[in-house]
Amino acid sequence: STLFSSKLAMKTEAQQLNIIFVPYLAPGHMNPMVDTARLFARYGVNVTIITTHANALTFQKAIDSDFSCGYHIRTQVVPFPAAQVGLPDGVENIKDGTSLKMLGKLGQGISMLEGQIEPLIQDLKPDCLVTDMLYPWTVDSAAKLGIPRLYYYSSSYFSSCAGYFIRKHKPHESTHKFSIPGLPHNIEVTTLQLEEWLRTKNETTDTLNVAYESETKSYATLYNSFHELESDYEQLYKSTLGIKCWSVGPVSAWVNKGDEEKANRGHKEDLAQESEWLNWLNSKQNESVLYVSFGSLTRLSYAQIVEIAYGLENSGHDFILVIRKKDGDEDGHGFLQEFEQRMKESNNGYIIWNWAPQLLILNHPAIGGIVTHCGWNSILESVSAGLPMITWPMFAEQFYNEKLLADVLKIGVPVGATENKFWATVGEDPVVGREEIAKAVVQLMGREESKEMRRRARKFGDDSKKTIEEGGSSYNNLMQLLDELKSLKISRSLEKLTR
Ligand code: UDP
Repeated sequence: STLFSSKLAMKTEAQQLNIIFVPYLAPGHMNPMVDTARLFARYGVNVTIITTHANALTFQKAIDSDFSCGYHIRTQVVPFPAAQVGLPDGVENIKDGTSLKMLGKLGQGISMLEGQIEPLIQDLKPDCLVTDMLYPWTVDSAAKLGIPRLYYYSSSYFSSCAGYFIRKHKPHESTHKFSIPGLPHNIEVTTLQLEEWLRTKNETTDTLNVAYESETKSYATLYNSFHELESDYEQLYKSTLGIKCWSVGPVSAWVNKGDEEKANRGHKEDLAQESEWLNWLNSKQNESVLYVSFGSLTRLSYAQIVEIAYGLENSGHDFILVIRKKDGDEDGHGFLQEFEQRMKESNNGYIIWNWAPQLLILNHPAIGGIVTHCGWNSILESVSAGLPMITWPMFAEQFYNEKLLADVLKIGVPVGATENKFWATVGEDPVVGREEIAKAVVQLMGREESKEMRRRARKFGDDSKKTIEEGGSSYNNLMQLLDELKSLKISRSLEKLTR
């Protein structure tokens, strides 16, 4: 009976899962993981997010508010080794890197975090680790504790499968244009659209190979995607990788319900302009405004900004354009200030400098489409809002995501980008001209041309709402995952007891 009562105590204790989340220090990785962590807390998990000080500031408001609602969630901060790698104080995120050299230092600082985070994980003795794909060493941390590590990949199943089969069959080594092998659809790509590190072996090649290796050594993977959006590829992923995976997306829509939460998500900046752009949007007709953003990392050259500005202006459709202060150069700023003035006078466009409250904007009824660089988070956020897209991929797996939108889901119009290149390695020449930009905008925002695409986008928007409601597939996946983690916890305690 002692064994029985200990079993009972264990069972009660097992209901309380302690899970550590370790997000990578870039918005495209951190936003979805923090949202996922908050989601877990909502369903009863005791959550600890480990990050550095400056990064914690970008989401602390949301954590504090969750905590005051009674959820068990907290942030544990470790110092970023800024001085050691020669970075100014407070520069702790990939999005703050303004040169290749700075990005190198940021990468170095991030890899040094292992020395701080690993012992902390061992100290906290969690029941499970949810860590970014770029922290492969956490497989060993989990093994030491005898707990599962969930590999967090913050992009699509489609891109994951496409990358997997290209790495496996290397079609690009014998031809410059080919159909991606192994996929259920005929997807044609050119070698230039593949990730730079796949085309030519470099440091990133090694880093990512280690990450992919850690994927198969993990207990399972977690995807911010949902069954109704890419079920063929969810299935393909499971059958080829041979590991468990759970789709629990879209997480941004699941946890950020109120306007204030949407507005504050993922940044600490004061959005002084907020009421101004909101008034501007409020004055526009439903679905008449195009939102133009290239994510958190891309920086545009002066020449490219000029083409975008004219392309948008010439399209005759209203738009919001998000521009980083460091985009372009001095000339770029002079040009943009003039452009901004002209748009104010014509009332056709609005520029948001630096950081836009994207979640809030995308859900405004006046927004009718988006120009996206095909970062997965922006895609899912647009899908949730039921919006069709103009696709303008820049780097990494974004060209695969474009194929998913244009060829499989048929909710995207490609602008015509042809070469996969990170901003820091792009030259001064524009890659897409104003005519092509204007043409894509007219095709997307013109009622007749995009009717069918709009209908499909709306349908995916509806699906994305249902999937996270009770009984929906992402909802069920999350419940099953939490149950499984609890059973694993019980088995571990039983093992200890009978050992
Ligand atoms: N984001 C934002 N405001 C901006 C730029 C980006 O809120 O001005 C958010 C966006 O909503 C998304 C994330 O930052 O959640 C960017 O991730 P994504 O995968 O779209 O692209 P990445 O920045 O990783 O290239």
